[in-house]
Amino acid sequence: MTATGRLAGRIALVTGAGSGIGLGIGRRFAAEGATVLFTDIDGNKARTAAAETGSHAATLDVTSEASWIEAAAVVEHTLGGIHILVNNAGICVPGSVEDTDFSAWRRSHAINLDGVFLGCHSLLPLMAKTTEATGLGGAILNISSVSAMVASANFASYNSSKAAVRHLTKSIALHCAKQRYAVRCNSIHPTFIDTPLIDTLAKGADHAAMIEKLARQVPIGRVGDTDDVAWAAVYLCSDEAKFVTGAELLIDGGLAAQ
Ligand code: NAD
Repeated sequence: MTATGRLAGRIALVTGAGSGIGLGIGRRFAAEGATVLFTDIDGNKARTAAAETGSHAATLDVTSEASWIEAAAVVEHTLGGIHILVNNAGICVPGSVEDTDFSAWRRSHAINLDGVFLGCHSLLPLMAKTTEATGLGGAILNISSVSAMVASANFASYNSSKAAVRHLTKSIALHCAKQRYAVRCNSIHPTFIDTPLIDTLAKGADHAAMIEKLARQVPIGRVGDTDDVAWAAVYLCSDEAKFVTGAELLIDGGLAAQ
């Protein structure tokens, strides 16, 4: 598919953009004309990703409020504001309620849930200001998971943190609507996407063998690729979705339809 400037004039920040889905979204946003700030806790990965498309990069640990305050200053003073925030950074710590220790539970929620709260809390005032000043609509997109809707015995902290993101998204959407901000907020719920995160499920097994095994669980017969998510992100963050807020979009090859 060819890019057609669907995000022209927008300034976007993507978290966890040094790898996988965040990298795919950042690339697609840049191709669609957005000014993109690639951020990651691993600043080198963010810089490499940004360099590919002549974009901007910053180190950002989503669990740290101080880190978000710094990122807000970068977007305000270097990029001139922000229209789009993609809260993508996340980890998957497998484990049932019995085998998940409290520190793993807290780490999952710190990155997957607190990170989303902190991003929205820190950047929403500037998003409201930027969208008003430029007359261009804004969007928050939270990358949750099909695991928010379909639970598994061995993903207690992942299920919990991703389900919370799904509902937080709706609260933020309603707040923005009530304030009459030109900022929408939606969530995306992918199933298995071929990224390095899959290796955390593989318990040392070969990546290709793991992908083949996971594909058998998906009705469509394959796992997703990062563009399957990135195109949905372009849609939800562009004016094409200007009446869509508080929505949840499954990108799961039919998994949750069963
Ligand atoms: P990934 O491991 O390829 O990339 C995650 C990125 O997040 C990495 O670059 C990592 O450095 C960064 N990161 C980790 N902790 C961070 C922190 N504290 N602050 C900032 N950045 C941090 O994973 P991915 O598959 O691309 O996952 C991206 C998102 O998609 C996650 O929220 C994940 O839960 C979700 N998701 C992934 C899948 C999948 O199958 N891959 C399925 C559903 C949902």
